[in-house]
This record gives sequence, structure tokens and C-alpha cells, in this order.
Amino acid sequence: MSKHTCYTCGAPDAMHPFKGRDFSVSFKQLARRVHNLAGHECRECAEVEFDAPSAERYAQAGDELIEDAKQVMADEMKRIRRKLHFTQKSAVQWLSGGGHNAFSRYERAEVEPPKPLFVLMRLLDRHPELVQELQAINECADINALLVQKQQQREQAR
Ligand SMILES: [Zn+2]
Repeated sequence: MSKHTCYTCGAPDAMHPFKGRDFSVSFKQLARRVHNLAGHECRECAEVEFDAPSAERYAQAGDELIEDAKQVMADEMKRIRRKLHFTQKSAVQWLSGGGHNAFSRYERAEVEPPKPLFVLMRLLDRHPELVQELQAINECADINALLVQKQQQREQAR
């Protein structure tokens, strides 16, 4: 635990030992604290280099965070779908499009849901009454009306 030269910025004797410090690991917007880590930190550029046991714990915490985050997202997809009374099949039809087994794969944490779909599910979780809008949205009457206007503009231009 002595001082040494920083490998990153090259400042001589700038790496000072530390111990008992907490650091965050993060994945997307999710974060978790890792306690009681030891290593060296550069006084010039703030580069941190963990001792071997701390480096291992830090890396493991990162792996566990990713694994847990994927499982939590998968569980949320399932919980919200059930709350909204969709089957996996109808959820694909009304909400996501894509392959018929898309939701099954999201809910088994096999594939991460695309961010817009995850945001939509969380919005519907907060405002389940908006499910009533889905039928009208999927019927596309408003979009068809816009298409009629486009067609009229084309005909006028001829
Ligand atoms: Zn440095």
C-alpha cells in the first residue's frame, strides 16, 4: 500500500493508497453501492486502481447488477402485462408488434425489451385506463384520415 506513479497520467508518486471506501457500479440508470473497497487513487487525474480482492468484488457486483436488472425488467414486463389483462399473444398484437413469442422472451429475460416498449409498459402501469385508447389507436382511423388528406394533396398537384 505505498505510493507509485500513475499509469494513466504519468504523474510520479501520485497514486495514494485508500481503504474502506464505497463506490457505485451502474448499468443504464440503475446503480448499486459496493462497500469497503481498497486500492490506490491518483491525486492528479483521480484514476482509481483497486487491489486484487477489491477489483474482483467490484467486477462481481457489476455482473450481479446486470443480471438482477435484466431479471427485474423481465418480471416487471410480466407483472404489468398481467395487470393490464393481456395474454402474451395479445400484448404483441396490441403493443409491440414483432414475433409472436416476443413477450415470452422478454419475460424470461432472454431478450431485453426495447426501451420504447418498456417505457410504454411503465406508463400503462401508472395509467392503466389508457388501455382503452389502444383499440382506437390500433384501428388507425386518425392515421387513415391523414392519408386521405395526403392523397387529396397529390391529386390537386396533378
Ligand atoms: Zn493520474
